[in-house]
Amino acid sequence: MIRIEHIGIAVKDLVAAEEIYTRLLGSASYKREEVESEGVITSFFSTGPNKIELLESTRPDGPIAKAIEKRGEGIHHIAFEVADIRAEMLRLKAEGFILLNEEPKRGADNKLVCFVHPKSANGVLVELCQEIVT
Ligand code: ZN
Repeated sequence: MIRIEHIGIAVKDLVAAEEIYTRLLGSASYKREEVESEGVITSFFSTGPNKIELLESTRPDGPIAKAIEKRGEGIHHIAFEVADIRAEMLRLKAEGFILLNEEPKRGADNKLVCFVHPKSANGVLVELCQEIVT
């Protein structure tokens, strides 16, 4: 794992949360992006070498809506940048971690992503992400 790439925060109202995080971080969101397959709209803030990703559900049965229903708003996942996502997936599997997707999938911000089940990481949903080089 190279570094923490971003922290994902589940929010009910993206516009209201953007306003709060703009004031908190002292700089505005630099990008909004919808990931239709995940049922989310995301908004990214940069904080030095790391990012904050706000996530609002676009449908009532989406993963973010469900997470908010269960635990309320707040930190949803921690994303680690990796150099080779397939190699990391194999390594983590061999270490006994439960992966939520068997193949890397396309996430927001031009990334291939894979999620690790929170029950295998002390209650934390972990995201692996690798920049897609085009
Ligand atoms: Zn993320």
